[in-house]
Amino acid sequence: MEIRFDGKKALVTGAGKGIGRDTAKALVKCGAEVFALSRTQEDLDSLVQEYPGIHPVQCDLGDPEATKAVVESVGPIDLLVNNAGITILEPFLEVTLDAFEKVMNVNVRSVMQVSQIVAKGMVERGSGGSIVNVSSLASKCALKEHTSYCTSKGALDIMSKVMALELGPHKIRVNTVNPTVVMTDMGVKVWSDPVKAGPMLARIPLGKFVEVDDVVHAILYLLSDKAAMVNGTNLPIEGGFLTS
Ligand code: NAP
Repeated sequence: MEIRFDGKKALVTGAGKGIGRDTAKALVKCGAEVFALSRTQEDLDSLVQEYPGIHPVQCDLGDPEATKAVVESVGPIDLLVNNAGITILEPFLEVTLDAFEKVMNVNVRSVMQVSQIVAKGMVERGSGGSIVNVSSLASKCALKEHTSYCTSKGALDIMSKVMALELGPHKIRVNTVNPTVVMTDMGVKVWSDPVKAGPMLARIPLGKFVEVDDVVHAILYLLSDKAAMVNGTNLPIEGGFLTS
C-alpha cells in the first residue's frame, strides 16, 4: 500500500524532536510540502539541514497571540498533525494550578486554536482535508502522577470527536493516535526508570514499547485517502495493552 501526498501542504507541530520530527520527514518522503512548527530554533535549523525543502516555523504554542499570528501566516494547509505536547508529573494531591494550566494550554487550547485557523481555510477553499491529533493511551487509562497529562489527552480525544462531527460535512476528517510509551525525549523523562517501566511493559501483550515509526505510520495512514471513511476515531497504538 503506497501512500503519496504529492501537491499537498502539511503542517506538523512539535516537529523539532521525537514523533513530530519523524512525521515531518516521512511526509516529505511521501511528496508533501511540509511546514514544521516547533519552539526551539536549533531543532528547526538541524531539520532543514537534513531536509532543505522543509519550511521551518518557529512558534511557542503556549502563547495564544503568537500562535494566531504565526499559524495564520503559514497559508493554506491540506494536512494537519497536531503533535506538540508536554507533560509535568505531580502526585494528585500536589498538582499545582500553574502546571495544570501549562499542560492544558499546550495540549488542548493550542490544538483547538491551530485547528480552527487551518480548518477555516479548508472550509473556505472547499478542498477538504485531514487532521490527526497526537493523543496518548493516557487518555484511556489512569497513570500515577499524570493528572494534568491524562486530563489533557482525555479532553483532546473528545474535542477531536466534536471536530470530526462538525467538520465532516466539509470533507475534513479528524482522528487521533493514542500511543503508549514511546522512547522519545518525553518517554525517557517519564519511563526510563525500570521500576516504573517494568509493570507497564508487563501489561503489553507484545512485550515492548512503541517505536516512533509505529506512530508515524499510523499518522500517515489516517492523513491519507486510504482512511477515507475513518473519522472521529481514537486509534490505540499499544501492543494490546487495553485488552486486559
Ligand atoms: P518530545 O520528544 O518531547 O517532542 C515534543 C516536541 O514538541 C518538541 O519538538 C517540542 O519542542 C515541541 N513542543 C512542546 N511544547 C511546544 C510548544 N509550546 N510550542 C511549540 N512546540 C512545542 O515528545 P514526543 O514523545 O515526540 O511527543 C509528541 C506527542 O506524542 C506529544 O503530544 C505527546 O503527548 C505524545 N505522546 C508521547 C508518548 C511518549 O511516550 N513519548 C506517548 C504517547 C503520546 P521543544 O523541545 O523546543 O519544547
